[in-house]
This record gives sequence, C-alpha cells and structure tokens, in this order.
Amino acid sequence: MQQSIDQLCEQFLQDLAQAHTSQDLENVKVKFLGKKGPIQQLMKMLKDVPPEQRPEMGKHINDLKDFMSARCEQLEGQLIAQEESQQLAQEALDETLPGRKRFVGRQHPLTQAMGQMIDILKSMGFSVQYGPDIDTDYYNFEVLNFPPEHPARDMQDTFYISPHVLLRTHTSNIQARVMEANKPPIRIIAPGKAYRNETITARSHVFFHQIEAVYVDKNVTFADLFATMDAFLKKLFSSDIETRYRPSYFPFVEPGLEVDISCFMCQGKGCQLCKQTGWVEIAGAGMIHPEVLRNGGIDPEQYTGFAWGMGLERLVMMLRGIQDIRLFTENDLRFLNQFTAI
Ligand SMILES: [Zn+2]
Repeated sequence: MQQSIDQLCEQFLQDLAQAHTSQDLENVKVKFLGKKGPIQQLMKMLKDVPPEQRPEMGKHINDLKDFMSARCEQLEGQLIAQEESQQLAQEALDETLPGRKRFVGRQHPLTQAMGQMIDILKSMGFSVQYGPDIDTDYYNFEVLNFPPEHPARDMQDTFYISPHVLLRTHTSNIQARVMEANKPPIRIIAPGKAYRNETITARSHVFFHQIEAVYVDKNVTFADLFATMDAFLKKLFSSDIETRYRPSYFPFVEPGLEVDISCFMCQGKGCQLCKQTGWVEIAGAGMIHPEVLRNGGIDPEQYTGFAWGMGLERLVMMLRGIQDIRLFTENDLRFLNQFTAI
C-alpha cells in the first residue's frame, strides 16, 4: 500500500506540473481528490490492511490528501492572478473607439405645456388644486347647475361606472369642493384629465387634459375675467396676440363666452389652421352662475366670480402642428423625441 501512495504522489506531481490554466488545475483536483478519485479508493482499501498497520496507513493517506490540497491551492492562486493580468491586457481601453450615446429623457409635450400654463397662472396668484378622476354625478353635474335630465348633459358623453358614479367629464368637479372648503377670496386652477365617451379619431379621444381657472371674490366682474385671460394668453403665446370674446352657453356660467385668439400662424391674415378666419378658439369662460355659488355655500348676493377652462391637446396640436391627437398616447419615441420645451 505504501507503494501505491508513493506512486500516486508521483503521478499527482507530474499532472500538476502540466497544469497551465485554472481549468487544467480543476481537472487535476477532480482526478485526484474527487469522490471517485484514488484517495477515496485508498481509503476503501484500508479495511484490507492488517489492523495494526491501519492507523499508520490512514495517516499516510491523509497526509497525502492534505499535501495535494495545499499544492493545488497554492497553484490556483498563481494561475488566477496570471489569468487576470492576461485578461486585463487584452481588454485594455481603446481611446479611439467612439463613445456610447446616452439618451436623455424629456417631458411629454402635454406635460411641458401644462407645466408652462401652471407656472404662468401661479405667478398671477392662483394656487393649484387637484380632484378625483372618478367622481359622483353630484360634483360633476348637479352642483354645476346640470340638474338630472338637463339637456346640456347630452353635450358631454359620459362614462358612467354606476348610476351616480362616473369618470369626470371636466375638471370643473374641483370647483364646488374648493368652494365648500374655503371662504372667498378663492383663486385656484384645476389641471387634470377629463373623460368623454367619444369615438377615437384624429381629432377626438376618450380622454384629454384640461386646465380650469376660478376666481371668486367681492366685486369680481367681466373686466377681471377679460384682463386675467388677456394677460395669461399674452404670456402663453406672445404679447401681440389679440383676444376676442363670443357669447356662448355653459350651464355653470351666466353669461357664458367662448374665447378666441388671433391666429398665431398667420397673424390674423387667414390660413389653414384658422380656416381663413384669422381667429382660433382657445377656451370657454364666463361669470360663475349664482346657483353654482349657492351650491358651493357662497352667497351670490355678496360674491361674484369668473371661471374659464382650456383643453390642452387641441392647443398643443395647434402650436406644434400635430395632425393626430392619438399620437399623444402611442408612446412612439420618434414622435416624443421631437419635443423640447416650448
Ligand atoms: Zn391663421
């Protein structure tokens, strides 16, 4: 048996001398120290050794095993260091290679436009208020002077979730909540999404963004509405645009108006955008209906107010020359990457 141990040791040293990579070394380890390797075989053979020699033989085998492990470990350290330095040399930085392009994210064109409007209105003294997208019929319609069965409800095709719960059709659902919770003066803007059950086409979608402004105080008049609107639109577009107000009807204002601005494409001369009229419709507005004030807990004999609302998608489409409203929601980077801040 001693002879087998010596032979094995010799064989091991020969194999080890041939191991030039960490993979070679791994093979040597498996060959000699593995479960089916010669060390294990020798251990099994111990039982055939006369009992008085067994302890000594056992010690020899164990010594050989420890010796093999130690040599393998030593060589492993050397080989790994060698291989790492080789790899580093191969991967040396080539400074002539072109750099990797980094993509910088940007805001969605609607977010940009909304942010710009909010900034202007905040600078004019309005604070921002948010409200629920899913709301009751009461806050979306009734409190705004749309009683049940009122024909004006047909103007807004509504997604009903249950008979009294719906997806808000405008961000005006925030108005009454603010009036209920605050005493005048109230000066707020309400930005957000609104939903209408319409067929999706290049010009209309089932949801869109709106921003509404509300001002309630003593002695608020049409003059305040015109002045605020003019100042806002001039900051948003340019100081030389003109505004025009036409009578219109919305249940929550009396009297109601539609607001046009002189066409920013042709400066009022007439073009495709303004359909040769020189004017572009931009917002709905009016003096808050006394009934709406009363519903919000405000005495219409003491206070008056104005409100106006603008849709964002149509505005951005006009400003950016976008032909299809669906592009806003398709997440096509070729479209979105074209927009830097206005
Ligand atoms: Zn025009």
